[in-house]
Amino acid sequence: MNNKILVLGTMAYDALETPFGKTGKILGGCATYIGLAVSQFKSECGLISIVGDDFKNIYLDLLESKGLDLSGVIKMEGEKTFFWSGKYHNDMNSRTTLDTQLNVLTKFNPIVPEYFKDSSFVLLGNLDPNLQLAVLEQMNNRPELVVMDTMNFWIDGYRDKLDELITKVDVISINDEEARQITGTHSLVEAAKKIQAMGPKYVVIKKGEHGALLFYGEKIFCAPGLPLEVVFDPTGAGDSFIGGFVGHLSQCDEISFEEMKFATILGSAMASFTVQEFGTQALEDLTLKELKSRINDFKVLTEFKLV
Ligand code: AMP
Repeated sequence: MNNKILVLGTMAYDALETPFGKTGKILGGCATYIGLAVSQFKSECGLISIVGDDFKNIYLDLLESKGLDLSGVIKMEGEKTFFWSGKYHNDMNSRTTLDTQLNVLTKFNPIVPEYFKDSSFVLLGNLDPNLQLAVLEQMNNRPELVVMDTMNFWIDGYRDKLDELITKVDVISINDEEARQITGTHSLVEAAKKIQAMGPKYVVIKKGEHGALLFYGEKIFCAPGLPLEVVFDPTGAGDSFIGGFVGHLSQCDEISFEEMKFATILGSAMASFTVQEFGTQALEDLTLKELKSRINDFKVLTEFKLV
């Protein structure tokens, strides 16, 4: 097992609206959030994505300064970067997509750089399942761990390919509404079982501020939602979660349920920072010391004595 992580996903411009304010076009995209989260670890990480010629070089420089390999990122002349706009409701747990402009994504033919073709970890961020499959097919061998994410946009319109992809991954990380949408089941326990039956050994269901559930066989682990005083902008929480999750696993000697449990806490800790500022700001500024301290907060929050 090596510690190379290959990440596929969007690099985007986002425009966000929350009860606390509105942004113009800011840096977003699942590959961006995942990359920033993974950059907390000593693993080698390559991003595969595409942007238009309107994508500012300072953003590419930022990602490179964090040690991320961008040889799999294409900048396409004459095209516009993927754009997403979303609005969060008062509870900050639900959001409405206001606009999705695929732009340069419609021209995307992902090419895995030679150096990353033997990566032990492949993280297929939320994207067209055809592209997620195309990346998987370019790997030299079956990676040790394939993790995928998706969202309603792709579940609605790309169901056949999505189902094909789900059969090929080890871990699927989705939110509660997506789990219900994929399975047509309200109970999350039942939904997880149905998804496990499709292929993935591990199913992670994120429940926004209410934490995350990890399912493996008959076992269930629960990461609490850390009570935070400030939740500013939940965008990218799911992506930072999987970035932290895989980042931890890439540092382990072997992949076990115990390590998956810790990875679930680490992912939750990472996401808890992301939501405290608009966009990628909190992740950009995050230090390892702050991350470790927050993991401890999770431990303290859930410790109790059997009496
Ligand atoms: P999350 O909040 O973790 O679900 O991820 C938010 C990020 O996903 C934003 O920065 C968006 O740019 C990106 N995004 C939104 N819609 C899509 C989509 N249909 N496909 C890929 N990425 C998307």
